[in-house]
Amino acid sequence: MATRKAIEEEASALLSRIGVDSAGPVDPVAVANELGLKVFNATFDDEGIHGLIAKRPTNTSIFVNVNDKPVRKRFTVAHELGHFVLHLAAGEGEFIDTQDNFRTVQDPDTPWDDTRRAEWEANVFAAALLMPREAVLRAWKEIGDPDGMAAYFQVSRQAMALRLDGLGLLE
Ligand SMILES: [Zn+2]
Repeated sequence: MATRKAIEEEASALLSRIGVDSAGPVDPVAVANELGLKVFNATFDDEGIHGLIAKRPTNTSIFVNVNDKPVRKRFTVAHELGHFVLHLAAGEGEFIDTQDNFRTVQDPDTPWDDTRRAEWEANVFAAALLMPREAVLRAWKEIGDPDGMAAYFQVSRQAMALRLDGLGLLE
């Protein structure tokens, strides 16, 4: 099980490795493509599903709900990349993500099951990938308000507020 710090470092190392410019919004689809993954829009029978990742012997695919807004899709792809890096390194498998999985944000100070823990880890990874620590600290000095930051990083206001709070930038 990975700590928040280890997950942050994993996301940061990935961005460095594939040469993503830390200025401006990160394109998670480009990151996925760099890793050899394909990303598709999909219509799910269950509209509550925002995305899924399926790792097979010869390929790995991410599917995002075609009806979701762009900001929502970006976080979904980043979350699925978290599963890929943190939970699927050893072999085949899949994760199917409904809204509940993206709400799993609290720190795991108290024991909880592996499934919820994995969703929390994927969310931490997604936040670190889309809102890299150094880039956020830098942008905050110029932008200074949560809504402006959310627009700049192309994330939801809620995701941005959580990130800013996590970095100690909100009162
Ligand atoms: Zn998930």
